[in-house]
Amino acid sequence: MKHDVLDSGFVALLDLMGDDLAVVRSARVSFGGGSKGEEKDRKLIRYLMKHGHETPFEHAVFQLHVKCPIFVARQWFRHRWSSFNEISGRYTSFDEGEFYVPDKKRVREKVNKQGSMVADIPSEEHVEFAEIIRAECRRSVDAYNRLLEQGTAKELARIILPQNMYTQFYWTVNARSLMNFLKLRCDIHAQYEIRLYALAIRSMFRERMPWTSDAFEEFYTYEEA
Ligand SMILES: Cc1cc2nc3c(=O)[nH]c(=O)nc-3n(C[C@H](O)[C@H](O)[C@H](O)COP(=O)(O)OP(=O)(O)OC[C@H]3O[C@@H](n4cnc5c(N)ncnc54)[C@H](O)[C@@H]3O)c2cc1C
Repeated sequence: MKHDVLDSGFVALLDLMGDDLAVVRSARVSFGGGSKGEEKDRKLIRYLMKHGHETPFEHAVFQLHVKCPIFVARQWFRHRWSSFNEISGRYTSFDEGEFYVPDKKRVREKVNKQGSMVADIPSEEHVEFAEIIRAECRRSVDAYNRLLEQGTAKELARIILPQNMYTQFYWTVNARSLMNFLKLRCDIHAQYEIRLYALAIRSMFRERMPWTSDAFEEFYTYEEA
């Protein structure tokens, strides 16, 4: 299961340990019980979510492969209740195609000053905006390659590369922490780019843990639009 995100990014589900029934079994272990059929199991999950009994959700664990710009990864890595392993810029090289270039210029949001909105400008100005970014990326890559040619170590040459460069990491996260991520990052106040990743993950979550996802949507509040 893989979703393309932004111009060259993606999020792919590599592995999943557990599902809705893992939550049910974990919750009922205290009484030595397992599944009691869909209706009762769904009710139990709803009850757990409603009353904040969240530890049973820790028994389902997702492993995802993510490719996103560095500035998105920086926001992502703030989610401490999860595990990350990232590609190393000390070993790999980069090329020009590995930079995120937004196709629309955004300006500061009027109400939420931290946020942004698509600029109301003619399409040529959006094109010009993207071209400025592309040109700077080309210059960075040229300088990076020159430094390598001169024998500079990759770990040092990379410091001139910009924040819109793509990186890749594995992310392992349990469903409880994943829901916290979704609540914060599907919200309209999250930056547009990480929000797109969160929305892609939300659809994977819906598909793989539909009962938990329904309860999550009922009791976790976040602003969609
Ligand atoms: C819209 C938005 C804007 C943001 N702006 C900024 C910003 O300007 N600057 C900035 O630095 N960050 C910013 N952040 C990041 C934010 O502060 C959190 O670090 C990030 O969202 C991770 O959330 P979390 O701590 O709930 O997740 P996790 O780190 O995964 O933690 C999950 C939960 O575990 C518990 N927990 C984890 N660690 C501790 C701890 N040490 N002590 C007690 N309980 C703990 C908490 O209940 C927490 O909710 C922003 C986030 C969003 C969504």
